[in-house]
Formats: sequence, C-alpha cells, structure tokens
Amino acid sequence: MGKRLPEIRDHSNLLNSPCDVFCPTIPLDSTELMSQHEPIKPELQEYETAIEGLRQTGHQFWTRGWSLGTSSNYSAVVGRDPLRLLVTASGKDKGHLGPNDFVVCDELGKPAFENQPKSSAETLLHCLAAKRGAGAILHTHSVWCTILSEHFSPLGGIRISDFEMLKGLEGITTHEASVWIPIFDNTQDIPSLAVRVEQYFAEHPNEPCWGYLIRRHGMYTWGKNIAEARRHIEILEFLLECLGRSTKLV
Ligand SMILES: [Zn+2]
Repeated sequence: MGKRLPEIRDHSNLLNSPCDVFCPTIPLDSTELMSQHEPIKPELQEYETAIEGLRQTGHQFWTRGWSLGTSSNYSAVVGRDPLRLLVTASGKDKGHLGPNDFVVCDELGKPAFENQPKSSAETLLHCLAAKRGAGAILHTHSVWCTILSEHFSPLGGIRISDFEMLKGLEGITTHEASVWIPIFDNTQDIPSLAVRVEQYFAEHPNEPCWGYLIRRHGMYTWGKNIAEARRHIEILEFLLECLGRSTKLV
C-alpha cells in the first residue's frame, strides 16, 4: 500500500481580498472599514489607476510585514510638467488604504490643491526621486532593512554581489553583478536628509542605484512605474534577508 497523500483542501474562499493575497482576519474599527469602501472623491478620479496600484502594493507589503503600524509611504508620478506626485496621506494603515487616503503634491512636496489630507512627512524624499526620473517611489520599514542598516552603517552602505536574484533589478542581466546600497543616518529633519541624499546622487552621477537605506529606519526604492518599483522592493528585501541570515550580526 502506498502512502496516503494529504487531502487537498479548497482555500479559494480565503482569496477574496482586493489583491488576492490571503489576509488574516483582524478587527478593523468602523472608520477604517468605511474609508476602505467609500467612493473616490471627484478630484482624485483621474488618478484611480495609480491609487488602486498603490493600495494593492500597501496591502501586499503589510501582509509581508514590511509596512506595519501605519509606517511606510508610497507615491506615483501623475504629472511631469509641472511635477505632480500622488502620495499616501500621513498616518494611514498601509494594509487597508482607502481610495481617498492620498494627496496630490507639487515638486516641493506641498499639497497641489486645497482640502487634502496631510501628506507623509517624507514626501520630500519622494520628490527627489521623481525629479531624477522615477515614476513610482516605495518606502518600507522591514525588519531586515532596520537591522542591516544599523549593522553596515559604519561602512556607509551594503555591497551585494553574485546573487541570481540581482537580475530582478532593472538593467542587470547576470548574477555576476555587484550592487551598492548607500545608508544614510536617520533624522526627523527631512529637509536635511533630502540635502544629504541629493548630495550623494550629485557626487555619484554614473553609479547605478536601485535604492538606499536609512539607518534603523527603512528602505527607499523606485522604478519607472509602480510594478517596477514593487519588483525592486521584493528583490532588495529578498537579497537583504539572504545577507542578514548569512551574516554574523553580533
Ligand atoms: Zn519611514
């Protein structure tokens, strides 16, 4: 008699969230539930595709543990001339973003029109990446980014080489590649951090960069669109976790 195979169960009833990711049942308060299902405001309707893309991204990242406790912020460029950035509003649960939990900002990170919620405190960092050509910018607060940004901060960055998964970063075609992820010190003074980030890129104009870390804080990455930026987060998170698990940290 052969060994009996385990019974296959139908889990399709669990895959009914907006992005088909299994989401554990957690009690949400009624305000959060209302904001998730409320109709999109007329002034945001033209950005509905970007809003849905960022909402799905938030839900995925929250499920992965990369955007917990209202942390993180995401944006997509919705206009170039003048620059207009759709950014997550401050203090929102990224796992359950509502269609109106977004702010349209100008190139200085200020609301582009009145009666919008407060934008994320770190909007200025999104603006910098957008001005360098990014079409979407994603910022996460994962455990491995937090730990490794502290561990490698004396070196000023993290070098990752010879992983197959590096090929998931735009422009890399072989595992025989080497990527440098700079680390900046954390601060609550975002304008001064923005100056340091801008200075770094001015001093390294020809060095490809897919993301950077802020010490004991999190990661910023970007892409030409939301899908590419999301892929970069997934790849960098994977690589950092590999590095973290194979590094003697103490
Ligand atoms: Zn942050």
